[in-house]
Amino acid sequence: MTGLAMTTPAPVPQALAVPADADAAGASAVGAHGVNEDILLSLANVESAYGPIKAIRGVSLKVRRGEIGAVLGSNGAGKSTILKTISGVLDPTRGTVMFKGEDITARDPADIVRRGLVHVPEGREVFPLLSVKDNLLMGAYTRSDRDGVARDIEQVYGYFPILRERQAQNAGLLSGGQQQMLSISRALMARPDLILLDEPSLGLSPKLTKEIFEIVVRINRERGTTMLLVEQNANMALNAADYGYVLENGRIVMEDRCDVLREKDDIREFYLGMKETGVRGERRWKKKKTWR
Ligand code: ATP
Repeated sequence: MTGLAMTTPAPVPQALAVPADADAAGASAVGAHGVNEDILLSLANVESAYGPIKAIRGVSLKVRRGEIGAVLGSNGAGKSTILKTISGVLDPTRGTVMFKGEDITARDPADIVRRGLVHVPEGREVFPLLSVKDNLLMGAYTRSDRDGVARDIEQVYGYFPILRERQAQNAGLLSGGQQQMLSISRALMARPDLILLDEPSLGLSPKLTKEIFEIVVRINRERGTTMLLVEQNANMALNAADYGYVLENGRIVMEDRCDVLREKDDIREFYLGMKETGVRGERRWKKKKTWR
């Protein structure tokens, strides 16, 4: 949408405001998504399975243009499955995926990339035997504007200067954090409207995780690139994102603006590890979690 033009870094705004009549307008029960908002991506009652294993059940969610959406959930909750279903890697057994007002359910993944939706999968998946720069060029394979591509490479080097230093090295020689930077940069090279980010913190040190999230927020604020990220690291995700969904056993059990989610007792106790006397002794909807 906005291309890769760099601007003066803007201050990170507060999470987006909720229209007072969101519920009345037919948004979700707790939703901040009103009917007149610019919804870039929406899932309605999506179910996906691996053979007999139902991984997600009746998932409905929305991502507004320009925002960072997050799906939080523990190991095996179905987060990656949601992203695979959106990007066409996995065909749902039920439900609808809409992107930019068009039905993209079960479309070919290459067609979905051409429409402006790029998936950065878990585990980073760079081309290990290609140089860093060639990996970036692979991300721009749908484009024919060579000058624009060259400019965009310079601009992603601006976000991640280490990639410029390593541009001639094989990507397989990069550290895990650098490969994560390369995966995100390769996605940017397609000039997408929406980036799906699967567990950007996976396997990274807390310091590197923080750095990656800061750049993700910066890219969103400077370029207006909409993001949907899935994360086990609830703390990072809730700080970076505007709107969040909590996924348990393949179902969305809670959603709200991230600043609201951060203050909820369940989230604080089970997802952020901040126990408070007020909720002790009460039976909550999940006592045992493996959240970081
Ligand atoms: P993780 O962070 O561990 O990847 P997740 O929330 O992304 O967790 P998914 O990978 O979406 O979870 O998995 C959801 C469920 O589907 C899990 O029960 C998982 O075991 C199962 N599953 C995932 N991939 C496959 C597969 N290829 N074949 C069979 N079952 C799968």
